[in-house]
Amino acid sequence: MHFFGRVVKSFSPLTKERVDVSFPFRMKDVEFEGKRFVEVAVGLPIAKTFYYEIPSGLGEGLRLGSRVLVPFKGRKVTGYAIAFPADLADYPKSDGPKPILDILDERPLFDNRMLAFYRWVSDYYLYPLGQVIKGGLPPGINVESQQLVSTTPKGRALLESDKPTQEELTILRAIVDHGEMPLEKGTKRFPHWQMYSLKRAGLIQIKQVLKGVRVKPKREKVVKYREERRMEDGHLSPKGREVLAFIREMDEISHASLCRKFKGASRIVKKLNEEGFISVETRRIYRDPLSDLITGEDLRPELTPKQLKALQTIVEGIDSLRFSPFLLYGITGSGKTEIYLRAIERVVEKGRQAIVLVPEISLTPQLIGQFLERFSGRVATLHSGLSSGERYDEWRRIREGKANIVIGARSAIFAPFERLGMIIVDEEHETSYKQEEKLRYNARDLAAVRARLCEAVLILGSATPSLEAFHNAVAEKFRLLELDERIEGRPLPSVEIVDMRREEGKGIILSEKLRHALGENLAIGRQSLLFLNRRGFASFIQCPDCGFVFKCPNCSVSLTHHFRGKKLICHYCNYAIMIPDLCPNCQSYRIRPFGIGTERVEEEIRKLFPKATVDRMDKDTTRRKRSHQRILNKVKSRETDILVGTQMIAKGHDFPDVTLVGVISADLSLNFPDFRSSERTFQLLTQVAGRAGRGMNPGTVIIQTFNPDHYSIQMSRDQDFTKFYREELRFRKELGYPPFSRLINMRIDATSQKRSAKAAEEMGEWGRRLVKMRSYGTGIEILGPSPAPLVKLKGKYRYQMLIKGKQVNPLHRFVEELLGETKKRWPARGINLTIDVDPITVM
Ligand code: ADP
Ligand code: ZN
Ligand code: ZN
Repeated sequence: MHFFGRVVKSFSPLTKERVDVSFPFRMKDVEFEGKRFVEVAVGLPIAKTFYYEIPSGLGEGLRLGSRVLVPFKGRKVTGYAIAFPADLADYPKSDGPKPILDILDERPLFDNRMLAFYRWVSDYYLYPLGQVIKGGLPPGINVESQQLVSTTPKGRALLESDKPTQEELTILRAIVDHGEMPLEKGTKRFPHWQMYSLKRAGLIQIKQVLKGVRVKPKREKVVKYREERRMEDGHLSPKGREVLAFIREMDEISHASLCRKFKGASRIVKKLNEEGFISVETRRIYRDPLSDLITGEDLRPELTPKQLKALQTIVEGIDSLRFSPFLLYGITGSGKTEIYLRAIERVVEKGRQAIVLVPEISLTPQLIGQFLERFSGRVATLHSGLSSGERYDEWRRIREGKANIVIGARSAIFAPFERLGMIIVDEEHETSYKQEEKLRYNARDLAAVRARLCEAVLILGSATPSLEAFHNAVAEKFRLLELDERIEGRPLPSVEIVDMRREEGKGIILSEKLRHALGENLAIGRQSLLFLNRRGFASFIQCPDCGFVFKCPNCSVSLTHHFRGKKLICHYCNYAIMIPDLCPNCQSYRIRPFGIGTERVEEEIRKLFPKATVDRMDKDTTRRKRSHQRILNKVKSRETDILVGTQMIAKGHDFPDVTLVGVISADLSLNFPDFRSSERTFQLLTQVAGRAGRGMNPGTVIIQTFNPDHYSIQMSRDQDFTKFYREELRFRKELGYPPFSRLINMRIDATSQKRSAKAAEEMGEWGRRLVKMRSYGTGIEILGPSPAPLVKLKGKYRYQMLIKGKQVNPLHRFVEELLGETKKRWPARGINLTIDVDPITVM
């Protein structure tokens, strides 16, 4: 359970004008000379921070941002030094501060500005500061570090002499016999204060190593052009000249990537080296998780007038050295990536650093490839797919200023840059920026916060901006940059909607029209994508004759079908009805649960087109490492005729020969029980459509649906974002959903359904009483509690309660007070409570 004791300042990351970091620490605390006390955040689920005394002699090396070892409830735990209070008098006295045991880092792990960022995150997401910091650091440092004790020359000298005390003798002897002794082992055998007094006396030393991961320096062969030995190359073979020209262009390049680019380069390199054109050397490198992604040469195209205009505006922002937020709204294929690249060039020129966030690393090899080509050697990456060793190395490269660009998934927002000048969030509308466990942050929102703290440029890029981002652009909090044409004037695909209510036959997957189009595309040798959205599938009931779906009269979200009992439930407000036998709209008796899977689609396609090469990309086919890329490469090399896939294929791939995209069912996302379902549908359809016709040949998109008249489907056909945006905003305003309010979801789960339901009920009662008792400004509203759409997950029964608030601050205060209540009253045992601030899905 997470409880957070004090919220200092909370506000909306995307809408608030300026950051107000009035935390209870003062700059002079940091500068304080004769430090006597240190405020420590421990990496445990505890909201409070604690004060410790700094023993004399130990204080020299202690800086803000260093880890310290502290005694805590009879244990020794790692904490982070976050302030040096001059005097503890202004702080509530407990039983007097205990001394810290040790300083674990000579070089601090984070600076003041980063700390301000951590504090913001902690306050806003109601998550303990120590755990926020812990999560922001590479796991190699946090959990897997181990301390090894060894003797110093002074210690060994003492041992040789006959002066050591009995204590010193025993400990030093034991350590010498052991070689390097793990600290835990030492403190098990000897009292820890004895160990530390030996350390303080300079007789032993303790160093950090990574446990469980072998972190060894790696080496690499590098090929370098020898400018000073410029010679006639007429006698070389054509291939030899080509390779040489390339090396000259690159100035230097790793041997491995050269060999990937040119077959048989190894032999040529040898010859070029012998003749003195180039030099080959081996040097120590950092592990490079991006090394096998180098794709081709860097084209560096001439910018189009529209790109140029957008870039100029961004450059003004960069040069201003002030917080400058932009929304780059550019249709698919309009050349946003090139703008990112040029903007970063400028930032780097200015001696500052850049973070590029992408929704999912494994799905964006092309984008990453482009960054590597342009900025080889200076790009680092951070994401969860890295090994601990890789993560640790990358983190250090960033911290030590060896890399000045980070490209990564959401966790890269915590990259430890000290001169951050720009944050780019590509496909900012993507839900994968939200972390759905532990600290439930949204990296897109945090990008705005961090950019503001660093006076940096923020670029949110998307072809289908989130409503929040667009709302900010309209309100002129973000500067709007528009790219409304595809590169080289390539046309957008034509989109057709198929009304599935008119299709004959039960359980039909492919309409006549889509089947026909697939056959034709196959006949002329072009490629097709078939898309089926299955993310977070919740079951709903639909009438196949008229398309009717049950909605909650209060909340306007689809009712969820719960299999046990013939019930339909609104999981926002708990409204429930029994499933009727006939469709309330057209009296059809065929009303039934809706469901199709990718496997069934693939099967059907194989049956219909036995000669076609069919492939499938979904969770099941991409379990193994690199399987994503293998499937995508097969499409790229034109081996695959038809690719069936889930939302994985909707994202930014660039396949020039795909000319047909079929959407099997737009209803799956449209009837998702969430107030954002229309927005999601619009985004998804527009993104999928963007996969068609990216090459020379124009594309076609066919969308199958039971709701052909729905505005998100109509407007994705017309690719009219502005019209969609206006319509959707009206709906949000009417029901008081974000961006006109804020939500916090409080989820309860327990292994017993009874206990979970009862706890939820209690929390609802307390919450409603609190609303009545106190005034939290206006507009705190409680929805539920109700069962979560997935009531049972991994053996846990889940209930939830949504708190809606017009303003962020009162909403946060309310939730904190409610948390305080549950903490007081619950025996806590067995009931788990999770707080989700700004939830993006309430499954
Ligand atoms: P977006 O990210 O906006 O969907 P991309 O950045 O993928 O679009 O650009 C689409 C294609 O156009 C890419 O193949 C890219 O290399 C190319 N491109 C971008 N800018 C230019 C330009 N100025 N001239 C020629 N080609 C360009
Ligand atoms: Zn009907
Ligand atoms: Zn409801």
